[in-house]
Amino acid sequence: MGSQGSESRTRLLRVVEGESWASSPAVRASMQGNRGRDTKPEVALRRTLHARGLRFFVNRRPLPGLRRTADLLFPRARVAVFVDGCFWHGCPEHHTVAKSNAKYWEEKVRRNRERDADTDAMLQNEGWMVIRLWAHQDAFDAAKQVETAVKPRRASFRGDTS
Ligand SMILES: [Zn+2]
Repeated sequence: MGSQGSESRTRLLRVVEGESWASSPAVRASMQGNRGRDTKPEVALRRTLHARGLRFFVNRRPLPGLRRTADLLFPRARVAVFVDGCFWHGCPEHHTVAKSNAKYWEEKVRRNRERDADTDAMLQNEGWMVIRLWAHQDAFDAAKQVETAVKPRRASFRGDTS
C-alpha cells in the first residue's frame, strides 16, 4: 500500500462488517448539524489512538499560511488526518440526495470535495501525507491505519524537532 505522495483521494479503509451507524437517520441528521468539530467518529478515533499510545494535535492547521484544519495532526511524522463526514463530503455509501434543494446540496458537496482534493495536493506538495477517513469507518481499523502510516514516517524524520 501507499508510498507517500500520491494517495490524494485514495480511500485507505473500507468498512467491512456490520451496519454502519451512519445509516440511522437520527445520526445522519446530527452529523448534518455538527459539521466539523468533535464529531462522534472523531472522538472515537482519538480515544482509540490514545489507547494505542499515539499523541497528536487536534484541529490544527498543518501549514501556517493555509486556512485548512486537519482533524488530527502528527507534526513529527508530517501526517494529517481528516475524518470526512459522510454527508458533507459525499460518501458513496451514505450520502443521500436531499429531496428539497437537491441542487443546492449537490453543489455544496461538490465544492467540499474539490476543496478536499485541493487541500490534499497542497499538503502533499509540502511533504505531508494525507489520510482521509470516512466518518462511518470503524474506529479501531481507522486507528490501526493511522498508526501504520505514522510510525515509520516518525522514524524517518527522526532528528527533526518539529
Ligand atoms: Zn459513509
